[in-house]
Amino acid sequence: MPNTAPQLESVGAEMHSLISRLFPICRSMTGEGVRETLRIVQEHVPLTIQEIPTGTQAFDWEVPQEWTIRGAYIKDAGGNRIIDFCDSNLHVVSGSHGVDTTMRWSDLKNNIHTLPDYPDWIPYRTCFHQSGWGFCMSHRQFAEIDAIGDLEYQVCIDATLTDGSLTYGELFLPGTTDDEILLSCHVCHPSMANDNLSGVSVTTRLAELMESVPRHYTYRFLFIPGTIGSITWLAQNEDCAERIDHGLVVTCVGDADHPTYKRSRQGTAMIDRVVEFALSQRNLPFVMENFSPYGYDERQYCSPGFDLPVGLLTRSPWGRFPEYHSSADDLTFIKPFALADSLRLILDVFDILENDGSYVNLNPMCEPQLGKRGLYDMMGGKQNVKDLRMALLWVLNYSDGGHSLLEIAHRARLPFPAIRAACDKLVEAGLLKAQPPE
Ligand code: ZN
Repeated sequence: MPNTAPQLESVGAEMHSLISRLFPICRSMTGEGVRETLRIVQEHVPLTIQEIPTGTQAFDWEVPQEWTIRGAYIKDAGGNRIIDFCDSNLHVVSGSHGVDTTMRWSDLKNNIHTLPDYPDWIPYRTCFHQSGWGFCMSHRQFAEIDAIGDLEYQVCIDATLTDGSLTYGELFLPGTTDDEILLSCHVCHPSMANDNLSGVSVTTRLAELMESVPRHYTYRFLFIPGTIGSITWLAQNEDCAERIDHGLVVTCVGDADHPTYKRSRQGTAMIDRVVEFALSQRNLPFVMENFSPYGYDERQYCSPGFDLPVGLLTRSPWGRFPEYHSSADDLTFIKPFALADSLRLILDVFDILENDGSYVNLNPMCEPQLGKRGLYDMMGGKQNVKDLRMALLWVLNYSDGGHSLLEIAHRARLPFPAIRAACDKLVEAGLLKAQPPE
């Protein structure tokens, strides 16, 4: 299991630089932006890219057409482009149909979205599920244009919806068991850093790390468009879904706020307990929330027909930070240290999942004599000797087959790695043996 603490700072900078590279791409639910994004992720890990044709049925949904935008602008009477898609891909409502017309401002402004409370930011808006079009701009600019009067403007959105496919990326890393750990992130937002790309970047780095270490679990990393992507994947992979023992949806993991974990629908699944324990070990603030049927792709993984043990890891939760779905969710809003901290947290979760187990004390009649087996000496000189000595006693006492190492760590309020290290030493000394799985 990677223990990359010393390199976390540089890893954070690397993840930030991947986000910087992906940031300008105009992603959408389908189309070239998603493909370009996945090709860049492929430079890091050998993703398999799947194309599911338009019209494919996915439970109650259908794979949509591909939206392609080549450009868009609003021109004033003097021929000046007062809004240009080239300046920001948030300027056009995602999914807009093509428009080429002239309009008076009094009509045009009904199709313009702004954020009056944040007058310098451009909102992100979509209209995929109903036919329409629109522009987004800063409220400051809107007010300036509004003040000029009811002039005429040339309005152009060069966009088409055509049959194509829904694209997603998948990395499958087999372990010694078929039981799976799922990591899922969405790749469908245009230029937004925290909501979308922080998850892509941290998931890519996790995939790189997990590819290079021995694994007990099989790992599946999904890079999918939100909602329709997970629905389509689940529809195509109902049999694989049964093997998902633990899962996380990862997004909004780059801002400076503390982590928030939203439990799976099951609420007390192993993943829920492990994430809570990993967070509580850090002596830093965090928030635990119960499942609710709104948010990201955990909504689909946790739909009642699947009810998979999949939680949602974020820092600032979606929709509850002002920068959410706006141009302010940019490269300055995400921090390398926060990306690295999120990565570290998930690695801690993997470490517990990989190394948990139940053991049986082979010398349960009073405490065995640890000194004569050299079990106190092994920790001489270490800073956390006391932790490790206590870990030996806790593991011996509670290894009755009924308590897992995670439960023992929880009771002992000791770091999981200390409990695991004590367990290994006790097995080596012949004092403990693994409880065979039932
Ligand atoms: Zn979003």
